[in-house]
Amino acid sequence: MVCRNICEKYRATKNKGSSPYAQGYKRCQVCDLFIKWSGTRCPCCQRTLRTKPHNKEAWYDE
Ligand SMILES: [Zn+2]
Ligand SMILES: [Zn+2]
Repeated sequence: MVCRNICEKYRATKNKGSSPYAQGYKRCQVCDLFIKWSGTRCPCCQRTLRTKPHNKEAWYDE
């Protein structure tokens, strides 16, 4: 499972108004970003996507 940068195409638009999960985005831990994708696996690295927050996870760390 390696990031091939395909995820950049699906990258979620950052919106600090609410959590990315509440907006229907999913998190890929390999690619380390939120993507707008209806499947259960990352289209980029094939890792299973996370759909629920973990440790109050929100948008990208800055
Ligand atoms: Zn990726
Ligand atoms: Zn990925």
